[in-house]
Amino acid sequence: MYAKVIVDISNNELDRIFDYDVGELSLSAGDRVMVPFGQRRIEGYVIELNENSSCPPDKIKSVYSKLDDYPVITPEMLALMNFMIGNYHLRIIDVLRLFIPAQMRGGKVKALSRKFVYANPDAFGLIKPSAKMQLDAYNYVLAKGEVALSELNANCSAASVRNLIMRDILRVRDGEIMRTPYKNLEFSDNSVELTEAQSHAVSTVMNAKDKTFLLHGVTGSGKTEVYMHCIAAALALNKTAIMLVPEISLTPQIMAGFRARFGSKVALLHSGLSAGERFDEWRRLITGEASVAVGARSAIFAPLKNVGIIIIDEEHDGSYTSESNPRYVTSEVAEFRRKFNGCNLILGSATPSIESYYKAKNGEYELIELPERINKRPLPDIFVVNMIDEVYRGNNGVFSARLEAELHNCIEAGNQAMIFINRRGYSSYLMCRSCGYVAKCEQCDVSLVYHKEEDSLKCHYCGNRYKALTVCPNCGSEHIKRGYMGTETVAEALKQMFPGETVLRMDNDTTQGKDAHFEILRKFAEKKAKILVGTQMIAKGHDFPDVTLVGIVDADMSLHFADYRATERTYQLITQVAGRAGRNDKPGVVVLQTYSPNHYVYKYAVSGDYKKFFEKECNLREVTKFPPFTRIVRLLVSGENEIEVASVLKNVFERIKTLSDGDKRFVFLSYMWSPLKLIKNKRRAQVLMRVTPDYDRLPEIYAIADEYISGKVSIFVEVNPNNLS
Ligand code: ADP
Ligand code: ZN
Ligand code: ZN
Repeated sequence: MYAKVIVDISNNELDRIFDYDVGELSLSAGDRVMVPFGQRRIEGYVIELNENSSCPPDKIKSVYSKLDDYPVITPEMLALMNFMIGNYHLRIIDVLRLFIPAQMRGGKVKALSRKFVYANPDAFGLIKPSAKMQLDAYNYVLAKGEVALSELNANCSAASVRNLIMRDILRVRDGEIMRTPYKNLEFSDNSVELTEAQSHAVSTVMNAKDKTFLLHGVTGSGKTEVYMHCIAAALALNKTAIMLVPEISLTPQIMAGFRARFGSKVALLHSGLSAGERFDEWRRLITGEASVAVGARSAIFAPLKNVGIIIIDEEHDGSYTSESNPRYVTSEVAEFRRKFNGCNLILGSATPSIESYYKAKNGEYELIELPERINKRPLPDIFVVNMIDEVYRGNNGVFSARLEAELHNCIEAGNQAMIFINRRGYSSYLMCRSCGYVAKCEQCDVSLVYHKEEDSLKCHYCGNRYKALTVCPNCGSEHIKRGYMGTETVAEALKQMFPGETVLRMDNDTTQGKDAHFEILRKFAEKKAKILVGTQMIAKGHDFPDVTLVGIVDADMSLHFADYRATERTYQLITQVAGRAGRNDKPGVVVLQTYSPNHYVYKYAVSGDYKKFFEKECNLREVTKFPPFTRIVRLLVSGENEIEVASVLKNVFERIKTLSDGDKRFVFLSYMWSPLKLIKNKRRAQVLMRVTPDYDRLPEIYAIADEYISGKVSIFVEVNPNNLS
């Protein structure tokens, strides 16, 4: 019998099956094994067992050993592996590495072994009634059945314990304890009675089979409760559940809520876990001890069997697309697992992605709506402030008069405020401060990106180049500014305005430590500060009852991002941040500052009319030929040597051009240096393609890419990438 093994080395040449003789070992597909490889010993994964091998028998070596008691890759995950390789053109080993905790590989983490103490049942009479401390220790053990020696020593006289063990009255065995993340979370199960809309949502899902639902529920409509009921229903049928939330909304609140409802059945998978915790949570899932996996993107690979429901909360969130190798789209992996298990999948959001809503309209997904907040609480009022008027009035500060006044009202009333700065990525645009004009590409209708080194404006889709603005073509003003403002600037301004108040700041710089972002949120939740300033990180999921004011300092920041999804993202962000206000009995106010007050995105965000926004946006996408009406394919070439990268780029481009010639499904093609031309010493260049949704020659493009990959130049192909930088 031969084991077909993938060795744990990430290298294109070695990313193929090697045959090994199984020998006397009893192996199954999915086992992790140790094998000889050249002069080395290396870990690998058995992906198949077969009687045949095309290798000459004298070349075949034998598997050394099996590393675990059970196959670490389940049959479902082996099937998923094939799906991902075919769909995303990934290395086999890179996919397999997604399926098990990184620290498990190479034996870097091990089960935590401990000594456990239990009572010898026949020995009670051997303790003298006068030996109080020995009796205490014995009773402590009896009450618990079994207890870790360390715990026993901490609670009773260690000398007495030692004495009892010596006399075989207490016995010791070697055991293992599981490291449980967030053990000290305080939680209470505040079960609620479902509203009519919620129970309708739950029963719709429960009565369906093998379906994908889009749960469109406004902020505060109680989507979490719907998820929990669907999970409970799956557990009642002896099935398992996977629930994904964006990393940054994986707050203590959410985790405590799940712990409270499902107890030790929940395994939490979070990037903040220690290696040991992650390993143990994963093992609890694969052994069936835990049956609900809650976590960020990578939890979609939870090693659960018999999955009864999969949930992706905030489905529109960008973090569900992996942007570095191995690249994959979480919802597509979820679809695979849904089909494999014949279960339902719920995609939930207050602001679904245009692509998902489009699918719901086409019947590919079934739409479920929660149109009202719990207890019919109103959505907050959004006031749009035209910052151009402020400039005319001589206010060049961060805050408009309106936002400043609302801040004073809020703080003086003892409430809390969240101030949101939308700042993502590298991108900066040029804008006229007098009329709000922003330069756009004439061909693509996306904002142009300012390239400082060349002092020019560029379209990141077609590569067209324009002169940088010095005078506004719209109004003739010379008041041109570069869009850019940071959280620090804003926090400083707030401290000056409210000298006595603590201002918390949450952004990439302040959340580096393991629990840093929990700490900031906890302080805010405990009302240790009245003002929280932050980026995207504060936009999601949080439920702070005393927040009555949300300020959006520069809403345009994402609007003028050079991306066809800029408007969609802006709508989502505004709705999400606005949704933080007025979640309890106190009504909320949102002040939104913009230089483009007439942009349609603000009109629909203010009225909260997602459907109208969708119609408008969808029409635009159709006209400008962007997804969902096309797919964008980017082929990214990178390497240290500029000339080599350029020549590969040119060659690949010519090959694809030949391939696309006369193919009507090819809508657009261009090539250029990437907006971020240099990252970590690597030059980056890209071929951009727009193809129709039914285009099926991607494998040929992958094959072209493969031909040019070398030790010096790497190439990745991405479909609908989140980020074109
Ligand atoms: P969403 O995720 O849709 O924004 P949440 O799930 O956070 O909304 O729910 C908003 C608030 O309403 C939470 O505080 C939640 O505990 C509460 N809630 C949810 N369902 C009910 C219900 N049926 N009755 C009372 N309160 C509820
Ligand atoms: Zn102007
Ligand atoms: Zn363009």
